[in-house]
Amino acid sequence: MSAVGLCPECEFAFPAGDLAVGETLACPECGLTLQIVEKTSAGIRLEMIETELPDWGE
Ligand SMILES: [Zn+2]
Repeated sequence: MSAVGLCPECEFAFPAGDLAVGETLACPECGLTLQIVEKTSAGIRLEMIETELPDWGE
């Protein structure tokens, strides 16, 4: 069995695969930006994060 993480909004199942805690990703279904907050043998836990645009000018 492969670990997955569910989108809190639409429950799209992400394969946990190579993902690491702290990584962010965008849900292909609902477009939310999610961060991996926890990784266990059962799967990963995703939380929506604020999509503040970074200051690219730096
Ligand atoms: Zn989603």
